[in-house]
Amino acid sequence: MQELNETTEAFNFVGNRLCLDFTNTLHDRGTETERDHFSTYASLARWSEGAKILSAEEVQALLEEAKRHPEEAALVFRNATILREAIYRIFAALVREDSPEVADVQMLNTAYAQAMGRACVVQQGDTFTWDWQGKETALDRMLWDIVRSAAELLVSQDLSLIRECAAEDCSWLFLDSSKNHSRRWCEMKGCGNRAKVGRHYEKTQRKQI
Ligand SMILES: [Zn+2]
Repeated sequence: MQELNETTEAFNFVGNRLCLDFTNTLHDRGTETERDHFSTYASLARWSEGAKILSAEEVQALLEEAKRHPEEAALVFRNATILREAIYRIFAALVREDSPEVADVQMLNTAYAQAMGRACVVQQGDTFTWDWQGKETALDRMLWDIVRSAAELLVSQDLSLIRECAAEDCSWLFLDSSKNHSRRWCEMKGCGNRAKVGRHYEKTQRKQI
């Protein structure tokens, strides 16, 4: 598996939901060209900043915490990638109108229960907002937002709008928020364009025969 250079290749956020964007950090899943945006705990933390779960300062603090506890950071990273694949399998199964594996849903539920054990409300002026207890030093805190996003999507009306990119070698998931629900590609400039070029190539080849 190749590793992407996280500093030169920007993360993509085309999934329309945090949990789907999280699954889209693996490109061409299950194919020969599979490559992973995540290589270390640091890449997971930086992605979380791009996904707007963490601020730059929070990432910096977590990276310093990870340096103090490298084994724990490695474990969080490993668990994050395992959880990512479970979330992917759940939604990919639903897109194909299959039932997700019970073990995957259980894994999500366990992670969700752990996350919600940290949930709290804090007052901001006249209103209250959700927050997380002990988030400053918890290396796995980005996973709390991700599993909450997955659980909320599963019980939402939007479930039927989840699609998998129509390109054969692309496993990216997205929520189709287009007006007539006709979005087929993760990105028009990526897979959509490749398909157009492919169709054009096929047509011109056929004409030549
Ligand atoms: Zn795609």
